Amino acid sequence: MPRAWRILAWAFWLGVVGGRILAQTAEPAPPLPTLQALRWEESVLYIVASGKVTFHTFTLREPLRVVVDISPCSLPSEPIQPEGDTPTAVERLRWAQFKEGVVRVVLDLRSDTQYALSTDPSGEQAMLALGSAPDPQGEPPRLVAPPAKPAAPPAELIQMEWESNEEEARLRLRLSRKVAVRLQPHREGYQTILELPQVKPSAALPADWNVKHPLIEEVQFSGDEKGVRSALLIRTTRAASLRVEYDKQQPVITLAINRPRNAHGKLSEKHIVIDPGHGGKSLGAVGREKDSVVYEKDINLAIARRVRQLLLKEKATVTMTREDDSHVELYARPQLANDLGADFFISIHCDSTPKPNSASGTTTYFHASDPDGRALAQAIQKHLAAVTGLPNRGARSDTAIYQSGFAVLRRSNMPAVLIEVAYINHDVDRAKLKDPKFQQKVAEAIVAGLRAYVEGEREAQTAQQRREVEVRPASDRREEDIPVQMPEQL
Ligand SMILES: [Zn+2]
Repeated sequence: MPRAWRILAWAFWLGVVGGRILAQTAEPAPPLPTLQALRWEESVLYIVASGKVTFHTFTLREPLRVVVDISPCSLPSEPIQPEGDTPTAVERLRWAQFKEGVVRVVLDLRSDTQYALSTDPSGEQAMLALGSAPDPQGEPPRLVAPPAKPAAPPAELIQMEWESNEEEARLRLRLSRKVAVRLQPHREGYQTILELPQVKPSAALPADWNVKHPLIEEVQFSGDEKGVRSALLIRTTRAASLRVEYDKQQPVITLAINRPRNAHGKLSEKHIVIDPGHGGKSLGAVGREKDSVVYEKDINLAIARRVRQLLLKEKATVTMTREDDSHVELYARPQLANDLGADFFISIHCDSTPKPNSASGTTTYFHASDPDGRALAQAIQKHLAAVTGLPNRGARSDTAIYQSGFAVLRRSNMPAVLIEVAYINHDVDRAKLKDPKFQQKVAEAIVAGLRAYVEGEREAQTAQQRREVEVRPASDRREEDIPVQMPEQL
């Protein structure tokens, strides 16, 4: 940064801090502004907050990343979906509540890239421009804030057509303009919802566009005439990888459905890394009873050992990240699986809430929107939900808990899931978790899910499972919002 800029930045910082000290003595603190949106427009990232904030940017190396700290700021209660196409220079965009009052946005870069940050006069928006050539005068490029966008009318879905071969089924959706869509697993079985916010069906849209394909059982479309929330429900015959591809030029979105990674051959040919969460000084969550305590680390290990036993009986190769009550560093766990070139990474945990008895059930997490991890989570969750006798909380993206996901999943190169078997601080769940018979049933279900992922389901889905489901974007579903305790997963 040239000297003049550095001085200016300091002056600005002093002004902010000074202002805050004065404000604190004068009146109670107002609610913090929240991060509202992250939007790519070509190579410019727009960062929008709900009120006046300060943006502070710097570079970190190994790996190379640009950091933008936003303060005072907090994350909104609804998860943020970045809009627009991520430029190729950026490997990943992630964000988190870095500490109280500071939201951190991080761009993981593929290569050294110039960037410049400019802040809108309102103080509510910043523009981070990437890839501009270094200016010989040392002045950052001037960016003009775009005018506030009026709400656009809904896009029309004009055409849906299949192109498929034996390996892959592709559904092409032609729209009147570009929109962002989202894939969400449905709670039950191999069902995934393609959410089409701000989309309405055009009058010319043909009514029947189902397809005969070995991977696809059924597709349902729920068109919203008002264009608030149309959706497609895709039911597959087995764990399948679903990916959305955006056409660079045209408003065309393709939903590609494939067999996921490592889903060929037999379970006996696979190498599975089982990761019993926590261990040693890391106790995990704690369940308290009248005169005893139950540690998550012990339950995780007991279930993991049973999974190993069953997989060895299947002649599969198994490695455990820990065999006993030893401490294993968080990052060493996926690293082990990566070094071994394992086919799957299965992390076993128990859930917990700040308040005892406030939540119950089973959840399987996958990383971000990884299509293979999602498929594996759906397969395992399907089999778990059938045996636990607890609420089925579904397969979920780990970004629902923490914006950058869980470290063990983020860092695994292979399809990976983190299973929260049940809530250790719920009396009903904990009684089950401690029961060796329940532990065995859970282990069997995990192995059955893995087998179904690799080899396919043994029987066709039953009529019971084929019943009509309500096609609705997951974001509209009412779900109790439970704060989750997961300090070690960051
Ligand atoms: Zn845990």
